[in-house]
Amino acid sequence: MHIFITRKIPDVGLKILDENNISYDIGNFKKPPTKKDLIKSLKKKNYDGIITFLTDTIDKEILDVCPNIKIIANFSVGFNNLDIEELKKRGIMTSNTPGTSSIAVAEHTVALMMSLTTRLVEGDRFVRSGKYKGWDPELLVGTDMKGKIIGLIGCGEIGTEVAKILNKGFGSKILYYDIVKNNKIEEETKAELKEIDEIFKTADIISLHVPLLPSTTHLINKDTLSTMKSSAFLINTSRGGVINEKDLVNALKNKIIRGAALDVFEYEPKLCSGLNKLSNVILTPHIASSRASARNQMAEIVVKNVVSVLKEGKVINSVIK
Ligand code: NAD
Repeated sequence: MHIFITRKIPDVGLKILDENNISYDIGNFKKPPTKKDLIKSLKKKNYDGIITFLTDTIDKEILDVCPNIKIIANFSVGFNNLDIEELKKRGIMTSNTPGTSSIAVAEHTVALMMSLTTRLVEGDRFVRSGKYKGWDPELLVGTDMKGKIIGLIGCGEIGTEVAKILNKGFGSKILYYDIVKNNKIEEETKAELKEIDEIFKTADIISLHVPLLPSTTHLINKDTLSTMKSSAFLINTSRGGVINEKDLVNALKNKIIRGAALDVFEYEPKLCSGLNKLSNVILTPHIASSRASARNQMAEIVVKNVVSVLKEGKVINSVIK
């Protein structure tokens, strides 16, 4: 049995492959491989499976060059890079790594919220640029986290952790919108399930935690932005396509909302024109889950799915429902 891993995964995963006598080739790419790169690599051998990353688009063209594939194991919670219908049609088992990065992403989300409310990144830029000439009572006046109404759009694994940190740490009132009622978080934090329009209208900080699906694409657009409070902050650690980035840039420029913090971008790694010029925006390079703990757990789960499919014909964390 032989698999292709598009880029290096932590050793803990490679060790499990070795123990199970599954050999592997690892793509030697310095940056995310293009479709052409992937096709060239996959043509070299008759692989039984592929470990993919969120930057690898797996579609008909890719699958055509590896007819023996039994498993696509995605090293990620999100799986919008995979053509699920095509994989289903071909009977290829497909997995993700649910729950592996919830704590990391939730902590990063709260860090972004606090960086906006405290104006921390603006302060850092101000000092480094040599503009700091002495204490000033009106300099970079921030806003409290305490007492803010938090609106979560999507309250699954990550949304739940965000709700817990904010409710326990700041006593925040949590409102959430989801297609599934989250009884656990309602009991634990008194969170309330609301219509999405009500979240947009009432929340002081809106944080996105939905997968990228046709139903969530451009959920944040010029119309929904215009219904938010002008004092509201928007945080996105889910997927860039949930926001119409051009509309967000316009809203931030025109002070329709107060600020935003983004870990993910609509056309990653490209930024929408004007985004990096705005001072009321914090940008991080899709690093919310970048922790050794999360990466090791992801490697373990991704490989366990490969082993289970190749040895027993069963996928553990199927994304095909
Ligand atoms: P999850 O599946 O546990 O939660 C997603 C929630 O969204 C679920 O409760 C689901 O019911 C809800 N949902 C689905 N469609 C919806 C819709 N149309 N409207 C409202 N709610 C809807 O996933 P999670 O672990 O919380 O992760 C959420 C997303 O975060 C992932 O899909 C992934 O794209 C992203 N993510 C980003 C990073 C990062 O590094 N920035 C890391 C991990 C995950």
